[in-house]
Amino acid sequence: MKKPPIIWMNVSLFTITFTCAVLLVPWYGIVYGFEAIEWIAFVVFAFASGLSITGGYHRLWSHRTYKAHASVRFLYALGGALALQNSALHWSSDHRVHHKHVDNNDKDPYSAKMGFWYSHIGWMLREYQSQRYHDYKNVRDLQNDKIVMWQHKYYLPLLIIMNFGLPILLGWLNGDILGMLLLAGLLRLVVVHHCTFFINSLAHIWGSQPYTDKNTARDNGFIALLTYGEGYHNYHHIFENDYRNGIHWWQYDPTKWLIDGLALVGLTNSRRVVPQERIESARLQMQLKRTQNKVAHLPNSEEIIEKLQAEYEMLKSHLAEYYDAKKALLEAKRKQLADRDLMAEVKELKLRFKQQKKSWHSLTASFS
Ligand SMILES: [Zn+2]
Ligand SMILES: [Zn+2]
Repeated sequence: MKKPPIIWMNVSLFTITFTCAVLLVPWYGIVYGFEAIEWIAFVVFAFASGLSITGGYHRLWSHRTYKAHASVRFLYALGGALALQNSALHWSSDHRVHHKHVDNNDKDPYSAKMGFWYSHIGWMLREYQSQRYHDYKNVRDLQNDKIVMWQHKYYLPLLIIMNFGLPILLGWLNGDILGMLLLAGLLRLVVVHHCTFFINSLAHIWGSQPYTDKNTARDNGFIALLTYGEGYHNYHHIFENDYRNGIHWWQYDPTKWLIDGLALVGLTNSRRVVPQERIESARLQMQLKRTQNKVAHLPNSEEIIEKLQAEYEMLKSHLAEYYDAKKALLEAKRKQLADRDLMAEVKELKLRFKQQKKSWHSLTASFS
């Protein structure tokens, strides 16, 4: 099959920035040296642009998992231009298609089934989806956001101001324009590019699948470190409407912390989360499936599977009863009704659910 034409602008952009970063940054460092302030600017710019992609382009605009004040959206628009990953409108359009048709090589713009290189960067190097380039039908809602449309219209001047103007200004103030341009401009751009590209490539290849195996998305704490918390991608693909990617307190998700921090000062609100019951349910279902697959080759597999199924059904019903009671308790509290009995019931059901979970875990562990 004939390959679509090369997009020379993208090829040159990625090649030139990468080569210059690899050659010029060490050369300048050895010959002239970098100052602490330039490294600080590198880190600040990396977080500003990276978090604008994950918190803005991704969780706010692509998935609408929360609402943000215009000042926050404005900063996301600037940070997105700094990240140089196309306008928020275009990015979100691509990303919504990715979720809708994940792993479908004909429709998913960065399908992981096409391999690491394609999903990482290859998809941007040729006109693979030129027929859709001006089709923004799936982001009609975003077309009502004046900031999104303003950024889309002035994307080119904005990216020049953010990637050249800002580092030049800071470098001029600091007395070393080239040093600032190389660290806060060039090296930062290349690092953030590839770190965020890892979400489409590595996060669909390397890691665990605790919630679903219906797509290639993986959970990986190490990738979360490189991607501002987006490494919990298995969770994200099954529960894309949740503003969190790392749902546990110990998981590294600075994008979630940013959204939470902004909520504290009233700049974000309506953060959507998936009910805990559904999350636990998905996890258990995956554990059942995995264990069933593991025992399938055993001579007494039928008997084991029957037992597993029975334990699973019991656990599911305990889970449902516990969460129903919890919901009833919350409702009673809201209506300021007497809730002592309900409280005792919830406590008891929680204990029963925990015990059943324990026995489920030891049962599934015995087959792993
Ligand atoms: Zn997403
Ligand atoms: Zn994905």
